[in-house]
Amino acid sequence: MGIYNIAVIKGDGIGPEVVESAMDVLTKIGDRYSHTFAFNESVCGGVAYDRYGEPLPKESLDICLMSDSVLLGAVGGYQYDNLPYEKRPERALLGVRKEMGLYANLRPAKLFSALSKVCPLKSPGDIDLLVVRELIGGIYFGEKGMRQGKYGSEGYDIMAYGELEVERIARVAFELAQKRRGKVSSIDKANVLKTSGLWRKCVHDVHSDYPDVQLEDVLVDNAAMQLVREPSQFDVIVTGNLFGDILSDLSAMCVGSIGILPSASINETTRGLYEPIHGSAPTIAGQNIANPIATILSAAMMLRYAFNLSDEADAIERAVDKTLNEGARTADLREEGLPVLGTKEMTEKIINNI
Ligand code: NAD
Repeated sequence: MGIYNIAVIKGDGIGPEVVESAMDVLTKIGDRYSHTFAFNESVCGGVAYDRYGEPLPKESLDICLMSDSVLLGAVGGYQYDNLPYEKRPERALLGVRKEMGLYANLRPAKLFSALSKVCPLKSPGDIDLLVVRELIGGIYFGEKGMRQGKYGSEGYDIMAYGELEVERIARVAFELAQKRRGKVSSIDKANVLKTSGLWRKCVHDVHSDYPDVQLEDVLVDNAAMQLVREPSQFDVIVTGNLFGDILSDLSAMCVGSIGILPSASINETTRGLYEPIHGSAPTIAGQNIANPIATILSAAMMLRYAFNLSDEADAIERAVDKTLNEGARTADLREEGLPVLGTKEMTEKIINNI
């Protein structure tokens, strides 16, 4: 029995609908397992810009920093596309990640047996992998700019990783692998890049503290091929920001709709940010057609990683599995012969299966 303070960023587009679904699921879990989940709304993203002229007002950030963890829907919308960079809804997300020091992004990709038909691979096997992506370093955060080069004006972005940055993300990967199937695949481009050479050395150094975990190095081009050829060979994948960005979307597609995929951004503390991998899907917002499963499974990840409530997280994941096996489908998972449910109806079915 516990009391947990959750900052809730509903955000824009379908964000409010899917977050409310996840809150209803958490409330049911609270009733069933005698926990109290206290939700504190933090206004961020486009909605905050509309109301306060800022995508991440200080008060909203403070709510996140004072919470036990943060649940986010999504931010963004086409009406904000022409705003200056610092006013755009996505700044809120980057700001929360940075201020909370969330350097590890976890993206599980698990193929639900009921959804094998939506998987684009011919024989997918038993896909159950976890991408651990370094989130606040590497080329996205390195020095960048424009200069005159041999071929005229040129843009440049510097990729750099320091030992401590690699060591801490490697530790996250090894520790998660210990709770899973005990294998880490470290993805780099060590045949070409200096950063990758250091990455590989640091990952191997850290590995000596985890002798029970099997470690393999895979070059990023081969990793992309292997993910399509035989994704079931992977357990935990650990990689830098750029490669992780691309490979986590590739892994997501291996298991079907983006409407079912959760994520977590964490650090060495128990506090983190939990959100679906999809965006705000403005064209389907407010119509009760968005798939709530990705956000519901993000709430399950919060229970597992932030609050150490594995039984409760399992209960949500089992309920989603059972609901899909019963033939419940939202529009994005449409399958011939099966009725299409709305966001609310899908949520109710999942709650009833808990
Ligand atoms: P998107 O993920 O919002 O949508 C891509 C496609 O998937 C669309 O066809 C959409 O209808 C569908 N889709 C997404 N989530 C769904 C769900 N739960 N159920 C059913 N269908 C779903 O990506 P986009 O269209 O490239 O971006 C839309 C906005 O979202 C942009 O403003 C973008 O910046 C923002 N965005 C935000 C985040 C975030 O907040 N983390 C992430 C990605 C994109």
